[in-house]
Amino acid sequence: METGVTLERGIELACSAPFTRHTEKVSLDEAADRVLAAHLASKVDDPCFDNSAMDGWAVRAEDCLQDGAELRIIGTSQAGANAPPPVASGEACRIMTGAPMPEGADAIVMIEDSEETDGLVRISGPARPNYIRRRGENLILDQIALHAGTQMSPAAVSLAATMGHDEIEVVARPRIAVISTGDELVPPGQELSEGEIHESNSYGLASLVERMGGEAVRFDIIHDTIEGLRDALDSAANDCDALITSGGVSMGQWDLVRKLMEEEGTPLFWRLRLSPGGPPIFGTWKGTPLFGLPGNPVSSHVVFIALVAPWMSHCMEAHPELGPKLAEKVKVKLVDSVRGARGKLCMRRIMIKPAGDGLSASVHTHQGSGNIHSMVAHNGLTLLPPDTDAEAGDTIDALWLR
Ligand code: AMP
Ligand code: MG
Repeated sequence: METGVTLERGIELACSAPFTRHTEKVSLDEAADRVLAAHLASKVDDPCFDNSAMDGWAVRAEDCLQDGAELRIIGTSQAGANAPPPVASGEACRIMTGAPMPEGADAIVMIEDSEETDGLVRISGPARPNYIRRRGENLILDQIALHAGTQMSPAAVSLAATMGHDEIEVVARPRIAVISTGDELVPPGQELSEGEIHESNSYGLASLVERMGGEAVRFDIIHDTIEGLRDALDSAANDCDALITSGGVSMGQWDLVRKLMEEEGTPLFWRLRLSPGGPPIFGTWKGTPLFGLPGNPVSSHVVFIALVAPWMSHCMEAHPELGPKLAEKVKVKLVDSVRGARGKLCMRRIMIKPAGDGLSASVHTHQGSGNIHSMVAHNGLTLLPPDTDAEAGDTIDALWLR
């Protein structure tokens, strides 16, 4: 087991113990936000036929060179109807947006640029070939327009339908157990007795799992006994693809997750050079990947964002730009000075806003790792290198949280 590793090394070690990626077919109704498992090629040309981008008249451009030209109306081209009649010299065919171009016509006159009387149309504006949407101008048959690892945005779902797919192959959502440990914890909704606090981490961590495309399986609170914890880990490992615990990974006597992992699991590392969030442990519990996250609510969130999210992306083979993610790396100009951490990458909470040509960042609340409000009152995290303080006016790297 390595101890006190950098975040990069922690991610590398975690990625050496992935969950098994499965795939499944889902209908387009269930496709939103899912991660595409394979490239998707178009089954059609888009558009499939030349059609009009405007309501107006399909004409021969050479017939409309003179302002006020009059053309004989020969019929209508309507979206979804039978093939329109061909257009010969001196003729116009009424055409609706999306309707097929009649044979012989090579331009469109907008309805606004015309006047209709007794079977004739008088043209008072330009006849434009670029009002025709050409077959295949968006996509051609067999073109790959959606790449494996893409998280299906609403537009991506529309595109899959446009390409003729009614179902798509996606990455199966990994089932991830979320287990909170601690004798002081009681569920929200219950009265607190002396020394008790509301259990909050499992709710936040479960939401983070779901945002990253997983299916969170939230367990009831596990009290600080070796037997109870071992049973919970065993049953979770049986049922789930990966385990996330919170609490019990520091140096204290009751930090049983660490103790149990060291004695009966296969830990790969303990402690990250990260602030907040120093004490996580990672390894496998009877073959199933396990992240032991710190109990402090901010720490567990930060470690999920910094360590667990990139690991999930890796295991799901998500696209680096188009896959699910919780944060975007940006440069920010500090409004307030922020203190770094000795020997550790420092992720302080900051509020990022557009300012001038770039982004500004300010600090609003107390930064204690127990203060989950600081994760709500801010929308970013600094990426201050170890042993680095930053002053107001400095430009630094940061994560802009989604
Ligand atoms: P631990 O790592 O177990 O020593 O916990 C560190 C701190 O986080 C303690 O103040 C705990 O009370 C708090 N904590 C641990 N687990 C949770 C949880 N699930 N929800 C809220 N706070 C927690
Ligand atoms: Mg504890």
